[in-house]
Amino acid sequence: MARKVIVAGNWKMNKTASEGVALVRALKPLVADVTAAEVVVCPPFTTIGAVVEACRNSNVKVGAQNIHWAESGAFTGEISGTMLKEAGVEYVIIGHSERRQYFGETDATVNARLMAALKAGLKPIVCIGETLEERESGRTEAVLETQLKDGLKGLDAATAATLVLAYEPVWAIGTGKTATPEMAQETHAFIRRTFAMLFGADAAAKARIQYGGSMKADNAEALVGQSDIDGGLIGGAALKADSFADLVKNAVKGAGGCGCCCCGR
Ligand code: PEP
Repeated sequence: MARKVIVAGNWKMNKTASEGVALVRALKPLVADVTAAEVVVCPPFTTIGAVVEACRNSNVKVGAQNIHWAESGAFTGEISGTMLKEAGVEYVIIGHSERRQYFGETDATVNARLMAALKAGLKPIVCIGETLEERESGRTEAVLETQLKDGLKGLDAATAATLVLAYEPVWAIGTGKTATPEMAQETHAFIRRTFAMLFGADAAAKARIQYGGSMKADNAEALVGQSDIDGGLIGGAALKADSFADLVKNAVKGAGGCGCCCCGR
């Protein structure tokens, strides 16, 4: 089952509108020939409008970093699916570990945001992953299973098949400590087996699972070369056009594509 590689850059709380536009203007020609991967950038809310404009008529897609579960109302500081959709957003990251760690995100709120994203016609990127303490105490699989069961509760198999999951071991995010490709593959395979248990083999074969956690141009090929790794969710290396473009091309190579500057395969 061929799953299209998807590489998404999570800019976090970085890049003003003008900085975001400059990044995208530099990125577009570097990835213009890439057809074997979806390329997504996820700017902060205030940068989204300008970046959507800058990405028009290119193969760079735009995602948001969060979404509220209500359509509108008294939720100071939040943003709805309708607002994101009208702004031209296609993808939305849900349940990033920084949201879980610093802003009280739970599997229940992940589930509510996921339902809102789907209702608004946005494509969710649902993040799961264990902390160092959970890994070291042998609880990785139990933690991931709970995140999948509770975070994805209520999805039907056909919708589940369209999902993008991001497996991000929390201990690897922004630390320079990447899971080895073999270690990441073992966990991705577990995630896919669990997904199959929840939604059936067909949905599990179709859903894409990105790896996230200190993925860079020089380890992207080996990581995406693993059979259950379908791309990456990228933090630090997405903040510069050249490092992000190199990473995208190496990810394509890992998936068996060409990854050269010119042919796009
Ligand atoms: C992330 O924040 O999702 C992430 C993977 O960050 P980094 O690539 O910097 O580890």
